[in-house]
Amino acid sequence: MLISIVVPCYNEEAVIDRFHERVAQETSTLDLGSESDSDVSFEFVFVDDGSSDETLPHLSRLADKDPRVRYISFSRNFGKEAAMLAGLEHAAGDALVIMDADLQHPPELISRMVELHREGYDQVIARRTRKGDRFSRTLTARAYYWLINRFMDVEIVDGVGDFRLLSRRAADSVAALTEYNRFSKGLFAWVGFPSTTFNYENAVREEGTSKWSFGKLVNYGLDGLLSFNNKPLRAAVHLGVTLMVIAAIYAVWIVGGVLTQGVDTPGYATLLVVVTALAGAQISMIGIVGEYIGRIYYEVKRRPHYLVKASNTPTVGVSLTESARPERRVSRPVR
Ligand code: UDP
Ligand code: MG
Repeated sequence: MLISIVVPCYNEEAVIDRFHERVAQETSTLDLGSESDSDVSFEFVFVDDGSSDETLPHLSRLADKDPRVRYISFSRNFGKEAAMLAGLEHAAGDALVIMDADLQHPPELISRMVELHREGYDQVIARRTRKGDRFSRTLTARAYYWLINRFMDVEIVDGVGDFRLLSRRAADSVAALTEYNRFSKGLFAWVGFPSTTFNYENAVREEGTSKWSFGKLVNYGLDGLLSFNNKPLRAAVHLGVTLMVIAAIYAVWIVGGVLTQGVDTPGYATLLVVVTALAGAQISMIGIVGEYIGRIYYEVKRRPHYLVKASNTPTVGVSLTESARPERRVSRPVR
């Protein structure tokens, strides 16, 4: 059995060697310690997501040292979702483990994942506990997951991220979902298959900095809410109808007042509140519609998810590598 370790890397020069060393160490003991007679071997699929630091030279050096290392390097930063997709598309393993490069995903859990996979699970999901997180952070996460699960068709669990093992068929299924706006938490949940979850304690980043700013997190949250279903549109319809009913009742009340008590000087304040409230509701509803149209706009362009600039392995998709160029020259008819 071949296991592919898929690692998206963006500006990870500081940890990449340590990551490789740690995982290699961990998996070597797994090779020996496995009780079952079927062998387990490993390969690394590093995806350099257009790093601006020395990540790519580090990767090619690693590949020279360790033949199990394969890497793909993007022409620019396409984001972690694209990097994971490239990893899924290029991994040759019978099962894949997706891991962050920053060692926040403990490599010692790989053996546990492989064991559980052998018991027949297609997805073995590591769920990080919120131990050590700030209370406010935990609270917002709770609120967010409560909200998002009321909206989504698939269930998203707090603490569950991209750290997981996927069987070949689960990985192929995720890679076959070619949508441009990728919300992997949703995609993984959507493909289903027998899955199991276990908890692990969150580790702090070993080196480098997190790529998540507060603004990015908020947008990611919105992506999750909007990219996976059309319930926000439905909610907009509900809100519109509710407002209409309220307005109708209010109109009856005002007309009734005029008829019974004569004309009253209308309140400027009430008017202003109603106008601004309705304007706010309208603008945000248009915003929701716009979000969906924006997504459709990106989908219909059918652009590739990423471009490959360099790699030490045959690439699928659009490639700008040195190795890909000569083939194209040959295939052109010579006059
Ligand atoms: N990453 C990536 N492309 C990006 C941002 C991040 O491939 O545009 C990778 C990054 O190198 C790391 C993983 O995604 O291996 C998780 O990133 P990070 O540690 O910054 O996120 P956090 O752990 O804070 O959620
Ligand atoms: Mg991290």
